[in-house]
Amino acid sequence: MKITDIKLGNISVPLKKPFKTALRTVESVEDVIVKIETDTGNIGYGEAPPTGVITGDTTGSIIGAIEDHIKKYLIGMDIENMEEIMLRLDKSIVNNTSAKAAVDIAIYDLYGQLYNTPVYKLLGGYRKEIVTDITISVNAPEEMAQDSIEAIDKGYKTLKIKVGDNATLDIKRMQAIREAVGYDVDLRIDANQGWNAKEAIYTLRKMEDAGLNIELVEQPVKAHDLKGLKLVTDNINIPVLADESVFSPRDAITIMQMGAADLINIKLMKTGGIHNALKICSIAEIYGVECMLGCMLESKVSVTAAVHLATAKNIITKIDLDGPILCSEDPIDGGAIFEDYKIRLTDDPGFGFKDIHGVNYIEY
Ligand SMILES: [Mg+2]
Repeated sequence: MKITDIKLGNISVPLKKPFKTALRTVESVEDVIVKIETDTGNIGYGEAPPTGVITGDTTGSIIGAIEDHIKKYLIGMDIENMEEIMLRLDKSIVNNTSAKAAVDIAIYDLYGQLYNTPVYKLLGGYRKEIVTDITISVNAPEEMAQDSIEAIDKGYKTLKIKVGDNATLDIKRMQAIREAVGYDVDLRIDANQGWNAKEAIYTLRKMEDAGLNIELVEQPVKAHDLKGLKLVTDNINIPVLADESVFSPRDAITIMQMGAADLINIKLMKTGGIHNALKICSIAEIYGVECMLGCMLESKVSVTAAVHLATAKNIITKIDLDGPILCSEDPIDGGAIFEDYKIRLTDDPGFGFKDIHGVNYIEY
């Protein structure tokens, strides 16, 4: 199964409601689709979102990285030579993790097809079904409480609350939400780098003192501020999860050696795909650090790949894969099955994609 061409396209999928964090507001998913063609007629699909404020990757940079740098290293390569393909992908260009992730995902899709096996079974096959949280965007406390009630009415048992744009208001938000949903629901919060270390400690201690029962706090301080992250981790009881601070396996080792966080959030768009994400899983197993598997604003192609990884590995104990659920349309036939909070896999080979509608492929 040899790679004959790599085609790129754009896809636009509207969101049910605007997605708002301490870093940005987004109205629709606007992602790059990668389609790898082979001499056997098998097709592998990948996807990458232009999450400029987190990865630095834009639509133009993703397309440029693949078209001008990655493609020439992979055309003609045989899918059975996975190790060589991943070495080539890694050395083709530095950074550009979203572009690499999209290609890595399409390669794994083909790898599964080559052996006529779903990818999650090739990676370990630990379970076949997972349960995701759902994100509540940062808004006024009353609106967030209302959104939270709607989510638990749909069966969600875990809510991921976006905070971080105003520490005083953040406490009011969490009080309003806890009051609205009661104590049977897990509340995790994501500050998206919105606080400094002292502000984070002050705010999170207030939440502890108020008995808000927060499951974990994600990325309280700036991505580069590892000392600040450790200060927060050392001074509050709520478990701290590193997200924007961890892209590569090397970042994960640094954080774990420092004890700068209690948990790690793995996202394929930060690691550059499944190949490197597996390395973080191995490091985390050694250090005994549980991981979350998260996503950016992505549709079902790349999130299906994340679901396969999450179901395969025991060390991934927390799931934040709500991208496709936040979308008002699903242009992808096949892949993982999203039924609100429950995500199931089929045993179709690879990632099980049949077709993607509405992709505008770029002509060269
Ligand atoms: Mg996050």
